[in-house]
Parts: sequence; C-alpha cells; structure tokens
Amino acid sequence: MYLTTTIPYVNARPHLGHALELVQADVLARHHRRRGEPVRFQTGTDDNSLKNVLAAEAAGVPVQELVDRNAAAFEGLRGPLDLSFDSFIRTSVHPGHRAGVERIWEATRHDLYQRHYEGLYCVGCEQFYPEGPCPDGHEAALQRVSEQNWFFRLSRYQDALSELIRSGRLRIEPVARRNEVLAFIEAGLDDLSVSRSAARARGWGIPVPGDPDQVVYVWWDALANYVTALEGDDYDRWWVSERRKVHLMGKGVIRFHAVYWPAMLLSAGRPLPTEIFVHDYLTVDGRKISKSSGGAADPVALVDAYGVDAVRWWLLREVPRVGDADFTEERLVARADEDLANGLGNLVNRVATMVHRFLDGNVPPAGEELAAVPVDEALEAFDFRRAATAVWALVEEANRYVERTRPWQRSRAGQEAALGTLVHACRTLAVQLEPFLPTAAARVAAAVAGERLPRPEPLFRRLATAGAAG
Ligand SMILES: [Zn+2]
Repeated sequence: MYLTTTIPYVNARPHLGHALELVQADVLARHHRRRGEPVRFQTGTDDNSLKNVLAAEAAGVPVQELVDRNAAAFEGLRGPLDLSFDSFIRTSVHPGHRAGVERIWEATRHDLYQRHYEGLYCVGCEQFYPEGPCPDGHEAALQRVSEQNWFFRLSRYQDALSELIRSGRLRIEPVARRNEVLAFIEAGLDDLSVSRSAARARGWGIPVPGDPDQVVYVWWDALANYVTALEGDDYDRWWVSERRKVHLMGKGVIRFHAVYWPAMLLSAGRPLPTEIFVHDYLTVDGRKISKSSGGAADPVALVDAYGVDAVRWWLLREVPRVGDADFTEERLVARADEDLANGLGNLVNRVATMVHRFLDGNVPPAGEELAAVPVDEALEAFDFRRAATAVWALVEEANRYVERTRPWQRSRAGQEAALGTLVHACRTLAVQLEPFLPTAAARVAAAVAGERLPRPEPLFRRLATAGAAG
C-alpha cells in the first residue's frame, strides 16, 4: 500500500488537526505492515504556498527561513507522536520535485492554453472565485486579479472522472463525500487556472516551463508531490505497480484530490490513485483551531503534558468517521484514565499479580480464546474509532472474564486454565494495540512476555492530577 497524507502549507506550526491525519495514516501503515504487506507511508510539507510568503513578510523574515523553521516542526512530530512514515518530502528542497512538476506540466501541454483572467483570488484558499465573498470567510485575503494565466482543459475530463468514481476504480470514503464530488463533476467542470504571475507570487514557487513570468499554481505543484517523492525505481514500484494507492485528507481539499489531481494524471497518461479517505475537522474547546487555541491545539505540548498514548488514544477512540469532533483536555484525560489506566493497565497488572501470587510467575497454557477482535474490517472502512473500540472490547471482555471465573477462588487446575486464558488475552491485546499505541503495546507485551512473567509494575500513570498543557 502506498499511503499519503496531504502536505500542509507551513505558514505556522502544526496543530492537532495535522496530528489527526498523521496518526490515522500511521495506524493504517502499521496495521498493513503487521500483516506482512509492503507499505510506503509518505508525508511532507507544501513549502511553495503563497500563504507562506505572506506569513514570512508579516514576520519580517526571509521566506526560506520561515519555511525551513516550520517544516522542521512538522517533520519533528515524528518522535513525539510515534509516527512511522517512510519519507518526508519538502517541496522547496526535495531534489526531484521541481523537475517532476515540470515533467507533468510538459506531459499535459496538449491540455494547456493561455487566457486573460479577471477574478478574485483568495490567498486563504489559494483559489480563484468569480466573485466575493470567499465561502470560507477569508475577506482580508481576497485580491482582485487581472492577468494572463495558463489554463488546464479540465472540462475535457468530466465524463472520464465521473466514470472513474462511479465504477469504483477511484473509491472515495465516506460515501457522502463521494456523492459530493460526483455532484460537483456532473454539474459541469470549468477549465482551471494553473499559473500565477511571478510578481504576485513574489518570485516564490516553480516557474512555468518556457514562461518564467508565471509560476505553477501551488496546488498543481503540491499535488505532484505524491509522485515526485517517488523518483526512479520507487515510482515504478509504488505508483505504477502498487495495487493500492491511498490518499488521506481533510474535507476542505477533496476537490483538489478527487477532481483536479486525477484529471492531471489522466492528461499526463499516468496511473491514478485508487482510494481517497476524507476526515472531518477538529475543534478545540468548541472553536475552530487557530493560533489563539495555544497549547491546547499544539500536539507536542499535549504529548509533553500527558504522554503520546493519551494523545493518540483520544484521536483514535473519540474522533468519528463522519462529523467534526471537539477536543478538550478534560476529555483527553478522562478517556486516558478510564481506558488506559483503569481499563487496560489494571487488567494487565491484575493478571500478572495473580500469576505471581498463585503460580510463582509461571505462565500456564491458555484454557480458551476470548472474543476475536474485528480490527481489519473497521480499518478497511477507514473507521478508526470503530477499530479502536474493537480492541477496547477485548479489554472489557477480559475484565468480565476475571469477574466471572474468579481465578483466586478456583481449584488449582481451574485457576491455571483461567490465568492462562488471561495471559494469552493480554498478549493478543499487545499485538492488536500496536498500530494504535505502539509504545503502550510494547509495555503490555513486555509485562506478559516469557514463560515466567516479570514482576508487575504500573503501565500507565493516572492523568487526572497531571498539569495542563501550554
Ligand atoms: Zn478563502
């Protein structure tokens, strides 16, 4: 599976919404690797956005300096969030990116033409609108533009795109998003402006081949990262031969990925992605995430305060497949304490303590198998909450099993069978939990490893008394 996240523009530091998409992709990558499937998990940053230029001007620093600093903060999420991405592309410095964008441009030249354009450009959306206001409310970011641009004959691909999605060759989940894209396509596609004047872009970005007064539209440039990151043999392996090519993204950029990107590839005669999963947005304390959200929206501050397990667990266990989710530190703490400290930590500790008390630490054979964990099916549907809840059900089942069988009251034989079953269930939990909480899963695995269990120690600290982030 070739698995990508979107590459965010880097006019500011990463927030919890970026962490959500990265953690979702990480779960898929780890899950498929665990099943022995080859996986390449890619992420990165969109350095060439005009928004980065404006943020640098506002901060009074050179664009490359601002972009370098913020891109490093995105790449630096890897450690704190336990991410396992295989490659990280930065569009302003990746050695093959510019040449790759130019090659796609040349391959689509038969669909490019020049036209005078007048309209309103929203820097917030990096998109033209025929008239105001911006549907996303970026009033201050609207610029009246009158210039000669390159246009891409998107209109030519209307039927092909519609057929691609209706046939399921490009699967879009959830289905409401698929229907939204189909309605947009079938209402009629206008040709797309795909260049900007270099002057308006302050000279930042990739020049149009053969027309250096224009730079390539930043979305064209950014979308190309999914193939420019794969140079040489990697391109054949992961973009030509790979059966599953999966893009993860937020709901705001679906049109770019499900309409413009496949049309660019069709025009260039390149293979297409096979799946698109669209997540909704997070709010923090009931408000859209913004710079004023502060530490509550900063994933690294949250990990510093509460640990990576609590942060990943909230993102996976609380965010629904459809619909926005509201983050508060109180919810993160309550969920971690209930599920991790009280539920999982308590179970493993109780089992290991009984094995030591009654069997001198020696692990008996398992008596029976507790309920199966239907994680595969949930993750095939990109339903991370259902998958996390399925793992969770095994913790609850094992805790009920302890109450039902009361190993401490049993005959020696009954006690051994029950404790064997419980140690086996904890080992299964460690395996099933690994894609979701890799460090916690390793601690659980170590606590129930071997023929003789190590002395039990607490696996999770209770957070209700821990300090607030930021
Ligand atoms: Zn806008």
